[in-house]
Amino acid sequence: MKKRLFTPGPTPVPENVMLSMAAPIIHHRNPEFMEILQQVHEDLQYLFRTTQPVVVMTCSGTGGMESAISSLFGPGDKVITINGGKFGERWGELVRTFTGNCIEEKVEWGTAIQPERIAELLGEHPDARGVCLTHSETSTGTASDIKALCAAIREASDALILVDGITAIGAHEFHFDDWGADICITGSQKGLMMPPGLALIAVSERAQDIVNSRHERPQFYLSLKKALKSHAGNDTPFTPAVTLIIGLAEALRMLREEGIENVWSRHARLASACRQGCEALGMRLFSSSPSFAVTPVWLPEGVDWKAFNKILKVGNGITVAAGQDDFAGRIFRISHLGYYDELDMLSVIGALEFTLSDMGVPFEIGSGVAAVQRAFLAD
Ligand SMILES: *Cc1c(COP(=O)(O)O)cnc(C)c1O
Repeated sequence: MKKRLFTPGPTPVPENVMLSMAAPIIHHRNPEFMEILQQVHEDLQYLFRTTQPVVVMTCSGTGGMESAISSLFGPGDKVITINGGKFGERWGELVRTFTGNCIEEKVEWGTAIQPERIAELLGEHPDARGVCLTHSETSTGTASDIKALCAAIREASDALILVDGITAIGAHEFHFDDWGADICITGSQKGLMMPPGLALIAVSERAQDIVNSRHERPQFYLSLKKALKSHAGNDTPFTPAVTLIIGLAEALRMLREEGIENVWSRHARLASACRQGCEALGMRLFSSSPSFAVTPVWLPEGVDWKAFNKILKVGNGITVAAGQDDFAGRIFRISHLGYYDELDMLSVIGALEFTLSDMGVPFEIGSGVAAVQRAFLAD
């Protein structure tokens, strides 16, 4: 059976990217590799829309988040985090670990924080040194208006703006420089169409100044100071995941060839068709501010998640993501982040139809697939 992955990380890897990683290993301190890294650095600037450095670290996305927090803040530093899901919650855990002074704003799952609320929070906490945002909250499939949030924060304070862009980069419009973010992170196994193992971190001038002016914090491998210093010479402080960086060069080449605006609009189009397909099958959508990376859907009334997932996976070769925490067994999430096209959306909605039909859920056969077709044909 052909297996198809519809999870928001890891995401499918294109054949040419996989092939590029099958070449014999090269040494990371030779000019051949440094040239590749230089190209990767330039293409990452294109992707993040920045003239500032974007460093490549050998760790998963969370390592990038930890690098940012531990490099910018120290004990006692007050940092505001927004917890509207598992990943916003993670910012809070990191801040508590490294500064012990976290102001955590809870947001209802499936909804986005509003700029006015951020401005209010900064009014209550004028001494906040940073605000941590999540552009696309993967656990709830919810996108925040990062442009408006950055503007509200910049107007109210000098707090650094840290953006978890892990499932947003490549899916949602994002302009690191123009929007005034200080840190933005993504991971290789999300919109970059790569296997897991790399974190990419954009660092603003303000953030660089802070990182460089402070004496070393209790950190070592994840030091942004070390990474930035090496970045300037198209190098890395430690042995990088050479193979992954070679694959990343190919993946970035593909994204650049498609054009970033086209990549964003493809994600918006696929997300919209996916939502229409699910709704046509009588399923309710979970998020009031849907992400273009992942679509969370309520399981139909009376449908057991384990049985549903088994038919989807074993019977149809389709892997989707489960709901988390309170929503485990109640929602599931369909990813369209990275290497996906129109026909992929027909596959996943078609497989949902097979599964619902198998389970005896009443719906009109073909209605989901037809809705997806119509969405694309109307475009
Ligand atoms: C996947 C993800 C992370 C965590 O990344 P890891 O690579 O699993 O460490 C953080 N934030 C968001 C929004 C994610 O989707």
